[in-house]
Amino acid sequence: MNEIVKGSIDLIRQLNYGLVYASLEEHKELSRTDLSRLTGLSPASITKITRELLDGGLVVTCGESSVGRGRRQTLLRINERRFQFLSMRLGRGYVDMALFDFSGRSLARQRHLFTEEERADLLGSLVHAIKVFLPRKSLSLACIALCLPGQVERHSGMVKHFPFYDLRNWPLGPTLQQAFSVPVLVSGDVRTWIQAEREWGAAKNCADAVLVFVHNDIGVGMVVNGQLIESENALLGDLSHLQLEPYGQRCYCGGFGCACTLVTNQALEAQYRDLRERMQEHDLPESVTIRELCELALAGNGLCQDILHQAAGRLSKVLSNLICLLNPGKLLLGGEITRADRLLFPMLHQSLASQLPAEYLVRLQIESTHFYEDPTKPTSVQVHKALRDGSLLLELLRSCQES
Ligand SMILES: [Zn+2]
Repeated sequence: MNEIVKGSIDLIRQLNYGLVYASLEEHKELSRTDLSRLTGLSPASITKITRELLDGGLVVTCGESSVGRGRRQTLLRINERRFQFLSMRLGRGYVDMALFDFSGRSLARQRHLFTEEERADLLGSLVHAIKVFLPRKSLSLACIALCLPGQVERHSGMVKHFPFYDLRNWPLGPTLQQAFSVPVLVSGDVRTWIQAEREWGAAKNCADAVLVFVHNDIGVGMVVNGQLIESENALLGDLSHLQLEPYGQRCYCGGFGCACTLVTNQALEAQYRDLRERMQEHDLPESVTIRELCELALAGNGLCQDILHQAAGRLSKVLSNLICLLNPGKLLLGGEITRADRLLFPMLHQSLASQLPAEYLVRLQIESTHFYEDPTKPTSVQVHKALRDGSLLLELLRSCQES
């Protein structure tokens, strides 16, 4: 019984700290009286919380209020430069890393490609890559946020399954926490991405939204009635292995004709090489990146437009299932293929119209994601959420008091 009461008090304390932080984040500069009014917390609680935040350097004073006739009040604001955090996406064979301050300003970024040798000890190689990336001087690392295309147990940071490397029960969060002595926030990547789109991007104010990310995999993030669909016990939102062609190419999963063998970046680049050879289009470059393929299609190249057309047809099979199931107001498409959105989206609309009843398409808007190629910015949404719910804030204050 005591446990439950204590737990509740701790949670309320955490949420109160988060509330103060969120108010300062929203209004930029506030007096203690303003904070008390906005949060509904007593002046004594505000004095205690702000004192701790000031002592930890998370908040600083910034002049005095000059409104009204009463005593002038000291204004407070968040000290956005006090801490930095590392935001990362672990992809197939690489990791994107970026260092941010609390204002969301990116201070440094890098992509590290893992060699075959490094892949054999992925965790050790990742720790080493982070150590090389992080600046040695004037760094106050608050936390590490990381996302990956896999199934993650968020509270423990354990990766239950990372399909590409076929890793199971992989102690990613605990290992990084031990190596860098900071909180580590691990999550599935598209799940994080759609939260960032809802927070800052293309799905703002949209209660029913689906994000489909086409890269080396096909990941789906889903929000229904404002609620993120998530599970710690199941791998959600991975449509990479949805079979589109039973007699298609062999996939690394062991199946045939999976969506990831047909519409991902690598698949489209391979289709280009194959079609160029078959059509004897020797004036075209021998191989192209997905980005170049999109640019050629936009410039009017028929071969590249045909590849996109075929991809749109295949992708619409994946999308129509999702639309039937979730009936979203917004369907966000992410990945480099959306460089050719001017061509691709009308193709998708046309293909979907031939597969779905009209009522599913009445309110549907298909748009590109706001966050485009860089996955580190969407990952940082986890840090902002953890500051606003107070959980990360309390950890930072604890570490400030200990040091
Ligand atoms: Zn597969």
